Amino acid sequence: MCHRRSHPFFLPMTSNVFHLVQGRAPLLISIPHLGTALPAEVRPDLTPEALSVRDTDWHLDTLYGFARDMGASMIGARISRYVIDLNRPPGGESLYPGQTTTGLCPTESFRGEPLYLPGRAPSDAEIQRRRSMYWQPYHDALQAELERLRGLHGQVLLWEAHSIASVLPRLFDGKLPDLNVGTNDGASCAADVLEAALRPTAGKDSPFTRVVNGRFKGGYITRSYGRPASGVQAIQLEMCQSLYMNEDAPFEYRADIAARIQPLLARMLEAAVGQVKAKGNARAGR
Ligand SMILES: [Zn+2]
Repeated sequence: MCHRRSHPFFLPMTSNVFHLVQGRAPLLISIPHLGTALPAEVRPDLTPEALSVRDTDWHLDTLYGFARDMGASMIGARISRYVIDLNRPPGGESLYPGQTTTGLCPTESFRGEPLYLPGRAPSDAEIQRRRSMYWQPYHDALQAELERLRGLHGQVLLWEAHSIASVLPRLFDGKLPDLNVGTNDGASCAADVLEAALRPTAGKDSPFTRVVNGRFKGGYITRSYGRPASGVQAIQLEMCQSLYMNEDAPFEYRADIAARIQPLLARMLEAAVGQVKAKGNARAGR
């Protein structure tokens, strides 16, 4: 009897850019802002603020750890978003024209503080180097894993997991709703899959506030990989970090408060994956 076969996961794949754990369910959780690594060649140009990697989507691999028991694949960045943002278009176009946002190789933090020492911001050539060195490998791995899972099931759910400080006056007014679901205004995910994902959040008694396609509609990954007609359903969930961690340094994970949101996340994922499986079976005539 082969133990590898009875185990739901393959051996993890790790590079200096990402960490990928493969499962068997039609679900890939992507965490492109999880990384805290600052390569040695970039570090000397950075300000102390940048070295703190404050705007990381901290601990999301831990928060979503339960999803591995559901058979989910999970890919998380190791490289910091301050080096290159894996969830921005490779050409550097703005995701939200007319609004304040951070770019492919950001030069300012969410709070507008400089990330580079004077005169040390990356040149165009350096941005291109980071793009091929760090941006591309994440996207190659993401694409290959989506293809593998879609090949197995005919359909796959790409869950873009994000988190952000709940109050950032430069980016949005007041306190952000707890759960910010984005599907590029409906273009990245079939309506029935989105509806299934939202159902567990809809209860009148739910303690969590929620908005769909509000300030955050989904970043580059959601917008470019979500192709509902081709069997790739993409949903971004941007959530307040106050739901599972301390928002101030040293940004500790808070298992006690995370335990309140994790059951809801599990129900959202289970419902959406159930709908994705039903679509896959319907298409295959099973
Ligand atoms: Zn993020």
